[in-house]
Amino acid sequence: MERARGMLMRWQVWKQRVTTALYRLFQGRYGGDQLTVVLLIASMLCFLAARFTRLPWLMLLYYVGMFWGIWRMFSRNFAARSRENQRMLSLVHKGRAQGRMLRNRFRDRKDFRYLKCPACGQHLRVPKGKGKIEVTCRSCRAAFIRKV
Ligand SMILES: [Zn+2]
Repeated sequence: MERARGMLMRWQVWKQRVTTALYRLFQGRYGGDQLTVVLLIASMLCFLAARFTRLPWLMLLYYVGMFWGIWRMFSRNFAARSRENQRMLSLVHKGRAQGRMLRNRFRDRKDFRYLKCPACGQHLRVPKGKGKIEVTCRSCRAAFIRKV
């Protein structure tokens, strides 16, 4: 019983020490964000793929991803790291929007045509098979004529 209590005490002291050390290590450092998670997961996948395929460049990608992810966590430049993260998030967002757009386009392929406004680039959906029609952009109100 005494011995168990002693071990518990030592464990708690050790835990406290590790917590303090970790806290000091990351004080003033950027730490992790979504980009860190993406980098670490992607490099782990590269590692697994490298084990199976024995392709050396996958192993290199693994090291690069790991190093980059860990380096970002210890960076003191919060503004730059947060900017990188935002860029990655907006790319993911754009990719998702594009995927949704392609799915809709495929779903509506019989009844609708998708056009791009020549003035502002907004995507517009118009009914198919109506001949020449005037299209008014719903975002910038520019009008143009198209055969659909
Ligand atoms: Zn427009």
